[in-house]
Amino acid sequence: MGSSPLPVSLQSKFQRRRPQAAAAMSRLRDHQGNFNILRNVIFVLFLLRILRKSFYFLRGHGLIGSVLVLYRSLHKNAYKFFLSLPGVRSQVAKQLVAARKDMEDKLVPSGPGTNHYLHLPKEPWTKEQLHTELESLVAMKRTRWEEGKVSGAVYHGEDFLLDIQSEAMRLFSVANPIHADVFPAVRKMEAEVVAMVLALFNAPESGAGATTSGGTESILMACLSARQKGYTERGITEPEMIIPSTAHAAFHKAASYFKIKLHQVACPAPEYMVDVARVRRLINPNTILLVGSAPNYPHGIVDNIPALSKLAVSYKIPLHVDCCLGSFIMPCLAKAGFPSPWADEGGFDFRQPGVTSISVDTHKYGFAPKGNSCVLYRNRELREYQYFICPEWAGGVYGSPSIAGSRPGALIAGCWASMMAIGEKGYVDAAHKIVSTKLTIENAVKEHPVLKETLSILGRPMVSVVAFESVDPAVSIYDVSDAMSHRGWHLNSLQDPPGVHVAVTLPMTRPGAVDGLIDDLVATIKEEKEKAVERLKAGGPIEKGKGSSAQLYGVAGSIPDKSIVEKIVVAYLDTLYKA
Ligand SMILES: *Cc1c(COP(=O)(O)O)cnc(C)c1O
Repeated sequence: MGSSPLPVSLQSKFQRRRPQAAAAMSRLRDHQGNFNILRNVIFVLFLLRILRKSFYFLRGHGLIGSVLVLYRSLHKNAYKFFLSLPGVRSQVAKQLVAARKDMEDKLVPSGPGTNHYLHLPKEPWTKEQLHTELESLVAMKRTRWEEGKVSGAVYHGEDFLLDIQSEAMRLFSVANPIHADVFPAVRKMEAEVVAMVLALFNAPESGAGATTSGGTESILMACLSARQKGYTERGITEPEMIIPSTAHAAFHKAASYFKIKLHQVACPAPEYMVDVARVRRLINPNTILLVGSAPNYPHGIVDNIPALSKLAVSYKIPLHVDCCLGSFIMPCLAKAGFPSPWADEGGFDFRQPGVTSISVDTHKYGFAPKGNSCVLYRNRELREYQYFICPEWAGGVYGSPSIAGSRPGALIAGCWASMMAIGEKGYVDAAHKIVSTKLTIENAVKEHPVLKETLSILGRPMVSVVAFESVDPAVSIYDVSDAMSHRGWHLNSLQDPPGVHVAVTLPMTRPGAVDGLIDDLVATIKEEKEKAVERLKAGGPIEKGKGSSAQLYGVAGSIPDKSIVEKIVVAYLDTLYKA
């Protein structure tokens, strides 16, 4: 610095003749020098940032993994380009119109005898009118959950419980816990629901929790709490979380709503549990949360919570256990006479020191009315990070514990009453029935001569869900799912790997239901195999996948760019609001 770019002879001449100008020049050069230093520092910082990001990227994905990530991104973009070509685009648009029409025909009733109410009635309806119309709404054509033909969805549904819930909800139908002084009973019931669920999950003395509108909101709150904790205590402004690829879509929602970068970790066969070594590699200074499911929705598998807890403790990162689905079955497994996942390693709940939050859906196997869930925390500080407080609002000093402002007190009363009416004994009995029925399906798939040739169970499910794939290349599992729909069953299709699952609930434990499921599954597989033989005989193309799930997962799902699937989902969501 400071050395002049001019040759020495010229420099001296210049300086001798114009001393003032020379001084000004040298000052300018000093400034330039400072500017250069600053520029270099910023450049080095920028470089360090890129290096640091590349380092964590490479360490997280490994060398081959990183190349694969880049390759997939290229592949996806190439497909995107292909789909945007004029000829292809119009073809896709035509297909989408057809798909939309299909969905409307299926979901929106039409034809003679269907009334569509698009304006308020001018005159109030009489009680009789209402009663008649409600009865005809209940009688609309639908899948018979009462006969145990639906996977998940209705978890209890027996009359004695519906009566109890209706009474509790009627008594508190005007209640809103935002006004704790007006509705003291609802405040009391809400606090007791949380306390009872904390106790079920072995929370320490310091444990705290909140009720929410459902599993999604519980997960949103746990992610928000972890993000706020990371920001407040560690200054993290670019938060990241690491989830199993089998974790619920609600974590993707949280990432999208709260701007958290999401790392998905594979859950490889044959166990289908999250690969803990890969979770470890993805941890970096921006990591605000680790996640495990107990169990996950797709395959009903409980991740290795003890191993995740060890990571959480050693890296001092919060760990969320998603027990939304497991809800009250998980804590009751041992008492119901079944092995409880990770019992020998200290369990799956707050007994693991690294577990900081757990989501529990009281509206699943807690048998409460829909719109109920709990998020539990190891301590009050973690819960405080989910609170929303607005001290300067013109409407008064405002605070609310979760997303909603006003909340339905009736649902809290319905939840509290359900828990009291069923009690520990009732939940243990229910767990026994449900897990036994899951075992019946699992054993049939493993042992029935027709089923075991074609289907294979994914992992070792220990709770209420059993998932299977097709191991016969001539039989598409999505065709099986569609054929089962025609037989009146509502099972759930899975992707990656292609599969189908059954989430057993109480209606499916009723006499005859599960036998019907197995008989229909056997008949379906036989049919699909016959069709495959005919296809072969005809020598023609293997015409598989005409049904809706085959189309969505088989055809559209095989395209790496997901924009078509996204458009189909938009059409579906639009259809929901077609009056
Ligand atoms: C159902 C479920 C959720 C989300 O619950 P919602 O009540 O549908 O919002 C989260 N995780 C798992 C594993 C689930 O099965």
